[in-house]
Amino acid sequence: MKLSFHGADRDVTGSCHLLECLGKRILVDCGMRQGSRELARENAEPFGFDPASIDLVLLTHAHLDHCGRLPLLVKRGFRGEIVATAATHELARLVIADAAHLQEEEARREARHRRRGGDEDATEPLYSLVDAFAALGQFGHAASYGAPIELAPGIRATFLDAGHILGSASILVEVTERGETRSVLFSGDIGNAGRPLLRPPATPAKADFIVMESTYGDRLHRPMAASIDEFQATVSATFARGGNVIIPTFALERAQEILYFLHQAIESGKLPASAQVFLDSPMAISATEIFEHHPECLEPAVAALFQHGGDPFRLPNLHLARETADSMAINRITGGAIVMAGAGMCTGGRIRHHLRHNLWRRECSVIFVGFAAIGTPARQIIDGAHSVTLLGEHIPVRAQIRTINGFSAHADQQELMNWHRGIGGSRMTFLVHGEPAAMTSLAAKLAVPRIEMPMPHQAYDL
Ligand SMILES: [Zn+2]
Repeated sequence: MKLSFHGADRDVTGSCHLLECLGKRILVDCGMRQGSRELARENAEPFGFDPASIDLVLLTHAHLDHCGRLPLLVKRGFRGEIVATAATHELARLVIADAAHLQEEEARREARHRRRGGDEDATEPLYSLVDAFAALGQFGHAASYGAPIELAPGIRATFLDAGHILGSASILVEVTERGETRSVLFSGDIGNAGRPLLRPPATPAKADFIVMESTYGDRLHRPMAASIDEFQATVSATFARGGNVIIPTFALERAQEILYFLHQAIESGKLPASAQVFLDSPMAISATEIFEHHPECLEPAVAALFQHGGDPFRLPNLHLARETADSMAINRITGGAIVMAGAGMCTGGRIRHHLRHNLWRRECSVIFVGFAAIGTPARQIIDGAHSVTLLGEHIPVRAQIRTINGFSAHADQQELMNWHRGIGGSRMTFLVHGEPAAMTSLAAKLAVPRIEMPMPHQAYDL
């Protein structure tokens, strides 16, 4: 058995790990590197293995940094099956099609730029919508949590609920050769337990080798209850000042959680039912609809609510803005509105327009609910910039700025330790998906015989 690492190595994006066993080559995740233009170029570099030689892909979840290079893998020759949970497959359709659309747009923009400089060569996108649909056509087996799948004689995989986003999984691969079974557990991204919509992460009783994420390996989150209180208090205070609340949000999980918290706040009378809530993101709107299709991923109370015709996301004054015109109309509202739009790090998308209309107004608030990478407008605002450049304009920052980390979709240090402790018999743990400082801090806390922090393309014989 051989394990090699081709993404998210001492880094948080681009997850991609290769397991070779019994003559099969199995890839776990094939994610996009995210953050800046340099990383966009890195996405086009060779994978570190021949895509045509890969027999199948196991996909842990639908976040772009785990599934975003699947169309490129197919474009470069991968013809095997992609195995994921049904919810991951459904969400991946949104994410992969959206990514292809952005890649095509980016290539057209680059080509225009080069033509102005006298360069007539066409710029090819990293992949096209055609590649994206080809990749989506290779999704096969729908994995169910806890039910082993025979991938090939002697190789089976079991998907376990990772509690991170809808459909997310940790994957246990068991390989039986000459009567002896050895196992590798890929954590995927591990959820922050105690979140309202999803079940907590599950772990297998035993695994010989563990490949584990370490995003928040050096940090503890604020408790959820305190975060919800802070959120409600910020909304109330902003409404009292006559302003709007702007929430840059990620489409796949956070948007639905915020809707749920607002639903709870209105039900309990902590926020007025007259609050106007705008979900200004076609992807978030579609993802919200997908939740109802997958009770198997939901907290039992939430699943039961759907089953009895209820809807934890339905608010008295919820407006779904799919079209650009609907989005632009929101900008005429000066107070009493909560606006959720992407991108979460404010690097693009409709959120930039809402910030342009509200960030300079003292009566408004901006609430950040997710991770913001260095260099992004979100991070600049969080770090106290007096002004930011959005859509080519300098916008002064006068609104109240709040960061609520308790809503994170990732386990914190203590939860990562608990997850790891729940698995018996491990011989070796590989830390991935973390900045080096977070990895080192987590490594010091884990009581295991051997810990590795692989470098890109490093391989191990197990
Ligand atoms: Zn994720």
